[in-house]
Amino acid sequence: MKVIRSITQIRRFTQGQDRRRKKIGLVPTMGFLHEGHLSLMRRARAECDIVISSIFVNPTQFGPREDFKKYPRDFRRDRQLAQACGVDVLFSPRPEDMYPAGSATSVCVEGLSSRLCGSFRPGHFRGVATVVMKFFHIIEPDRAYFGWKDAQQVLVIKRMVQDLNMPITIRALPTVREVDGLALSSRNTYLSRRQRDEAPVLYASLQRAKGMIQSGTKESRSIVGAMKRFIGEHSSARIQYIELVDMKELKPVSRIKKGMILIALAAFFGQTRLIDNIRIRCS
Ligand code: AMP
Repeated sequence: MKVIRSITQIRRFTQGQDRRRKKIGLVPTMGFLHEGHLSLMRRARAECDIVISSIFVNPTQFGPREDFKKYPRDFRRDRQLAQACGVDVLFSPRPEDMYPAGSATSVCVEGLSSRLCGSFRPGHFRGVATVVMKFFHIIEPDRAYFGWKDAQQVLVIKRMVQDLNMPITIRALPTVREVDGLALSSRNTYLSRRQRDEAPVLYASLQRAKGMIQSGTKESRSIVGAMKRFIGEHSSARIQYIELVDMKELKPVSRIKKGMILIALAAFFGQTRLIDNIRIRCS
C-alpha cells in the first residue's frame, strides 16, 4: 500500500492508470479506523480495481467549540488496518495543502444541509461537501463509499453529485454496530465506562420506534415522545433532537404514510455528541 501526502503525487498516481479499464473506488474518512470504515474499504475492494482511502480530519467541518483538536488520531494503526483491507493508496493530505491561505470557495447543498444535525452545527455540511468535492476533483473516483451511520451526509453528497453533474456513483452501506447495538464511531472512545454502558439506549429507542410503527402507530409525536421517555428512563443522555423525516428533503413527517422514512437522533453523553438513525419502509 502506498501512502501519499501530496495532492500532486496522488494526481500523478491516478492519471497514470488506464481509466477506461480500471475503476477507482474512494473511501473518505477522518481516520481512527473501526469496523464501520473497514466495511466500506472491503466493499470498495470487492467492487473496484483500485481502492484509495483518504484520512483527513477536515477542519472546516468542525465548529469553533467542537472537538477538532482532540479528535482521536492514530495514523500507524490506521495504516495497518487499511492495508489489511486491501487498500492500494492511503491519501493523507496536510491541512495547509487542502486549504491554502486565501481559500475562499466552498460548496453548500442548500436545504438538506440545514436540517437535522445542520440546524445545530451550522457550517458542518458546507465543510463536508467542500472537502468531499475537493477529493472528488483531486482523485476523480468512479465510485465513492459512505456509511448510512451519517445518513444526512449521504443525502447531501448524493445531491451534490447529482446537482453538479459529477460522473461518480455514491454507494451507501449499512451502519456497523457493536453487539449491544451502539453504532461504531471514532467518538465512542470519548465515553466513560458508565456512558458507554448507557449509549446502546439510542439504538434501542430507534428499535422501539420501529416496533411502534410496525404495530400501527402513525403520529410522529407519539413515537418521539416514547423515544424520549425511554432514553430518559434508561440513561443520563441529553437529547439534542429526535426527528422522523422523509428521505428526499429530510423534512419532518408528522403523520406516517407509505414509503421510506428516516428516524434520526443526536444526544449528548456528557460532552460527547453521538448520532444514530434507522430507515424504515412503511406500508
Ligand atoms: P468518519 O471517519 O467518521 O468521517 O467516517 C468516514 C465514513 O465512514 C463515513 O462515510 C461514515 O458514514 C462511515 N462510517 C462511520 N461510522 C460507521 C459505522 N458505524 N458503520 C458504517 N459506516 C460508518
